[in-house]
Amino acid sequence: MSLPALATDIETLISAEEIRVRTIELGREITRDYKGKDLTILLILKGSFVFGADLVREIDLPLSVDFIGLASYGAETKSSGVVRITQDLSRPVEGRHLLIVEDIIDTGLTMKYLLENLQSRHPKSIKVCSLLEKPAGVQHATRIDYIGFTIPDKFVVGYGLDYAERYRNLPFVGAMREG
Ligand code: 5GP
Repeated sequence: MSLPALATDIETLISAEEIRVRTIELGREITRDYKGKDLTILLILKGSFVFGADLVREIDLPLSVDFIGLASYGAETKSSGVVRITQDLSRPVEGRHLLIVEDIIDTGLTMKYLLENLQSRHPKSIKVCSLLEKPAGVQHATRIDYIGFTIPDKFVVGYGLDYAERYRNLPFVGAMREG
């Protein structure tokens, strides 16, 4: 896949307004579900930094935020399932209610790795919120507790998601036009 020169080479799949509306809905659900609990929001770097920043502002609860950096070895546009931690959490999560915020779940292999890794640190609970899911790619079914949008099996960019580190700053989610 060649790198398009311009953002105009990208076709909008989910507009900034649709994302805004859905993020408000998810924030309300999360606020309701975690009332009275000690919540830690765990953002997966780098892709979820934009969604996470918007989502936390729609959650009306006291909460803490931490970050974990993950990278998948292998091909550029497909997860290999072999994951490495590029940046670890800053604090222990033992006894905390963890809400993982992810940009996209495709094969589910990255999330499988992360859930196993986090379970060994003994949090009180773990739930997953993903902006996007691509059901066509699933190799490991993960329970996603909060889903923004289900999308077709296309490689998407924007709103935090990159291709070769570009396009993270687009305010919408788009697919690259082919050809
Ligand atoms: P999985 O392990 O579920 O296949 O993939 C999860 C990770 O792969 C995501 O966190 C993301 O970094 C990357 N990924 C999967 N699909 C896409 C996509 O369509 N666009 C971009 N930019 N990244 C993707």
